[in-house]
Order: sequence, then C-alpha cells, then structure tokens
Amino acid sequence: MRYISTRGDAPSLSFEEVVLTGLARDGGLYVPETWPQMSKEDIRALAGKSYAEVAAEVLQPFLGDAISPAEFRAMTEKAYSSFSHEAVVPLTQLGPNEFLMELYHGPTLAFKDVALQLLGLLYDHLLGKQKKRVTIVGATSGDTGSAAIEACRGRDAVDIFILHPAGRVSDVQRRQMTTVLDSNVHNIGIDGDFDDCQALVKAMFNDLDYRDELNVSAVNSINWARVMAQIVYFFTTAVSLGAPDRPISFSVPSGNFGDIYAGYCAYKMGLPVDQLIVATNKNDILSRFFNTGEYRKDGVDQTVSPSMDIQVSSNFERFLFDLYGRDADVVKTMMSQLDEDGGFSANMSQLNQNIFSAGMCNEEETLSTIKGMLAASNKLVDPHTAVGLKVGADCRRNNKIPLVTLSTAHPAKFPAAVESATGIHPELPEHLVDLFEREERLTLLPNDLATVQTYIKERARVLSSV
Ligand SMILES: *Cc1c(COP(=O)(O)O)cnc(C)c1O
Repeated sequence: MRYISTRGDAPSLSFEEVVLTGLARDGGLYVPETWPQMSKEDIRALAGKSYAEVAAEVLQPFLGDAISPAEFRAMTEKAYSSFSHEAVVPLTQLGPNEFLMELYHGPTLAFKDVALQLLGLLYDHLLGKQKKRVTIVGATSGDTGSAAIEACRGRDAVDIFILHPAGRVSDVQRRQMTTVLDSNVHNIGIDGDFDDCQALVKAMFNDLDYRDELNVSAVNSINWARVMAQIVYFFTTAVSLGAPDRPISFSVPSGNFGDIYAGYCAYKMGLPVDQLIVATNKNDILSRFFNTGEYRKDGVDQTVSPSMDIQVSSNFERFLFDLYGRDADVVKTMMSQLDEDGGFSANMSQLNQNIFSAGMCNEEETLSTIKGMLAASNKLVDPHTAVGLKVGADCRRNNKIPLVTLSTAHPAKFPAAVESATGIHPELPEHLVDLFEREERLTLLPNDLATVQTYIKERARVLSSV
C-alpha cells in the first residue's frame, strides 16, 4: 500500500514512512492510494471475533509489508489489553434501534486511546527497526495530549512535546497530561487558543529544515495511523448490529473530523452505512459546510465540550480530496482560499450525493441532553457525547435503521458540565482517583513560533544515540 498527499506535490510513501512523517511536505495530508475492499463475506466473517482480532484483520491491508500479520496481531492484542472493558469498545442500547458506542474505556478515558495505544507500539516497532529517535510535536484541545502522552511515556525512542491552550482545557484533562513525570514527556501551555497551538505545530512541520533536524513526527489525527486505527470500531459495532446485511447510521461528535472520517473510510471499504452524522457544538464550521456548501472560519468560542472547540478541521482536507475526485489541484486552490480569504465554497450537488448529514448543538441543548439521558436511560454521558445524541436525533432519517452515537469520553473527564446538568458529580475510575493529589509539571510559553521551536530543540534527544 502506498500513500499519496492531498496536495499532489509530495512523494508517495510507504506505511512505515507515513506513520513516522505525519504531515506531507507539500502541506497536505496522506491518504491511501486506494481503499482496500471488504466483501460482504469478509465482513460477515468478523462476527464473534475479539476487538483485537478484528483490528488485525481490517487494518492489515493498510500496512503493506511493513509488519508481518503475526507481529501486528500481537500488537493489537497488547494495545487493547490496556482497556478496562473486556469488549474494548462496548455497545449499550438506549432504546429501540438506538445505541451508544462506548469509546472511553482506555487509560485516559477518551476515544483517542483507541488509536494512540496502537500508535505508541507502532513507533516502538518501526523505530526499533531503524535505530532512530523521533520528536513528537502535537497540539491538543485536551484529550489527544493525554492519550498521546500515555502512549509514549517512558519510550526511549520518542520525546513528546504537547502544546495545549493554557487555561482552556479542563482540570482533569490538564492533570492527565501534566502529572506524567517521565523525562521524555514535555507539556507546554500556550498563551492562546487551540487553533494557535495547531498553527504552531503546522508551522514547525512546514519548517522543513527544523523538521528534518529534529525528525519531527505527529500524533495528531493528521497522522494516518490515527485515522486508520479508528476504522475498526465502525466495523465491530456494525457487525454486532447485523451488518453487512443491514445498514447502520452513526452520529459522531466532531472537531477535527478525524473520527467521522474514519467512519467514511469504513464506508469506502465496503461497510454498509446509511448516514454519517456530523455533530458539532456551537463551533460549527463543519455543520455549516454540510448544510450550505460554505466552509468559512468564524472564530472559536469556549464550550462545555472543549475537545471540539476548533475553527478549522485538519482532517477535513482528506474528505475534500475524495469529494473532488482526488483532484489535488482543487484541494490546493481551496486551501489557499481558506488561508487568504478565510473560506471557500463547494458544489452542493456533489455534497448532496453523499452519506453525510450535519447539525449543531448549543450549550443549553448540550446540558439538557445530559439531563434528559439520565432521566430516560439512567446513563450519565459527557458533553461531547451529548452533542452527538442531540444532533443524531435531529438528523436521523429512518427509525428502522440502527443509529449508533459515538460516546467519545467518560463523563468524569468533564465533571463540571455533568454536575451542572444533573447535580451528580461523576467519579473517576479507580486508576485515576488520586489524580488531584499528583505532582504537576508544565511550562508556559507565549504564542510565538521561535520561542517554542527553541524550547523543543534544546530538549529533544534526537541527535543523541538510542
Ligand atoms: C477529539 C474529541 C472529539 C472530536 O474528534 P475529531 O476526530 O477531532 O472530530 C470529540 N469528543 C472527544 C471527547 C474528543 O476527545
């Protein structure tokens, strides 16, 4: 399998290269050259297999010959043994044909663990073969950071630098990052918002000399391996609900468009999907796009679902590339319009033919959905999940088709919102009960590229031998 850039000017890469690279050198994102196909029989044969077995089977075609099937099977087993639920990603029924996919049973309580637990092992495997070190640089609006740090802590081949918007992530989210004291972990609080953090990271990737010198790699969902690992749960869930003999709809709380894009990948691989519902909070650039064709920046507001407080969705470019028949020139034009004019328009007739629907859930609706879920189903959900539930209900076309809402975080990760909606303070699971007593380590830096670059360069061990 080769990977190509959405902007057409970077060389195609192998799986190994694409995992270690992240952003393409032309500023684009890597996507598989073709979509591996799963026939109905292939999909049917997944029934009854463990999560780790399905992961190994569904993902093997993306690896090329980078990792043998037996080695990869051992990696998926190890990655998902860190989850506290036997099913890894269990499904809960909420009502007739309504389900919740619980993605929060990993070590840091958000869906990002599903991909990052595997990515940590991939780094070890691929770097061990090459006897190299990487410098991981990532921006987080809260959950990616802790999941990436948890996946990379203590790994000798990796130094990890995570930028978060200072004061704009929840206390639980911050502490899950800053209380990891391994010497290869560096937390940087930036005086700015998430988009500022993401822009700093992008700028470091686009500074090719810096990037090469420090061997910079990405753990954000611009890294193909992140998206790839997320494809698996669309298959396991759909199969447990009767796929391939029945289509399934998914409602996905969305920010950077990584999770829902993984659902789109599953669809392109042959999974029968009826609707993919893009659920946003009031930072609704994606919802506006799917309803009007206009993709336009509009500032970022802080919400009770902070992991979706973004202005520009980094993975969206991958979808645009497909929407325009994989024409890199169109993508390039649109992305330069986004930089220069703050937005672009797409052709609605093209958009109307696809499986996406989209909607927005405001702050009040988020809280009332949390409250309503507790009353109706005796289930505490986090604010991101609530956004998915509300928009899923709004956009659903057909009650006979199962609707699965992705529950992207544990309610205890966002206790303030959950408590204000329900009066109940959600308890952290056992492995995190002493989180607020642990020592924190964190550096605050201004929103200034040169300062951040110097800070990282002084600490990265990439030049010393492994
Ligand atoms: C990251 C995150 C999202 C958004 O996912 P994207 O892949 O960025 O669209 C939603 N909910 C939670 C809890 C998250 O951590």
